[in-house]
Amino acid sequence: MQIATIIEDCKDILGINNRLVIYTLGCPRHCKNCETPEFIDPDHSFDVDIISILRTMQLEKYDGVTISGGDPFFQKEELKKLVDYLSIYFDDILIYTGYKFEELQDETSLEIFKNISVLIDGEYIESLDQGERLRGSTNQRFFFFKEKYKDAYLKLNFQERKQQEVYHYGRLIGLVGLKK
Ligand code: SF4
Repeated sequence: MQIATIIEDCKDILGINNRLVIYTLGCPRHCKNCETPEFIDPDHSFDVDIISILRTMQLEKYDGVTISGGDPFFQKEELKKLVDYLSIYFDDILIYTGYKFEELQDETSLEIFKNISVLIDGEYIESLDQGERLRGSTNQRFFFFKEKYKDAYLKLNFQERKQQEVYHYGRLIGLVGLKK
């Protein structure tokens, strides 16, 4: 699967509590002022065996996992395998997608939804960006496949947006969290 990057220890950013965040590569859209323009173009040199990488990580220290991109559904079959694996370890799996939920009614997508807790759908529209913590713009919708997470996600979403610095071996390599 083409993976752009994996970010560890995201706290109340891109989901509730302490999370692992996986960014996939490739997206069919070109939203104006996309948060991650460098993740739009597919690139086979980023093909990795993501399951093998996850096997080397201490997944038990995370409360949940978020899959963003790019658009994770751009690699739908690989996404299903990834979610199947992650669901062994995580009850709370959030996926961001630029597709609308109604466009994701094929068999593979429906199988993916059986194993995740939350989907945030829809493309990013800058004029509808109100600085919410989890949604990039207010046209995007939450779909809760596990009701028990609904209150916590909605409560966090209406907090002010925040970004977190990401360090790799002590060196600042970037920011995660939706930008303002
Ligand atoms: S769907 Fe997301 S990743 Fe794709 S162009 Fe729009 S904001 Fe960027």
